Amino acid sequence: MASGVDEYPYQHIFERDKFSCQYCGWQGRGSFDSWHVAGLCIDHIVPRHAGGSDADSNLVVSCRSCVEMKGRLTPASFEHARQEIDQKRWEAREWFEKHVRVP
Ligand SMILES: [Zn+2]
Repeated sequence: MASGVDEYPYQHIFERDKFSCQYCGWQGRGSFDSWHVAGLCIDHIVPRHAGGSDADSNLVVSCRSCVEMKGRLTPASFEHARQEIDQKRWEAREWFEKHVRVP
């Protein structure tokens, strides 16, 4: 794999995942704003502190929000992580609808 100052660390993972969050689907490539707001980063599906590896199969592109929602979860698989994040997003949406949205 080529690496250099002109590429992201893990550029090949960003390319594989098309600069989109693998948990929620947020597309980071459409505009600077969508990329900037998303704060896309590399997430270890199984965290390193739980024995997760740096292998490509344990790495996905994630937006900042999904990383925060994942928190300290130690998922058994990508699907497990996505389900947990979906649940938290659903709860956040309920809260938004009740307390934030302008009527
Ligand atoms: Zn996301």
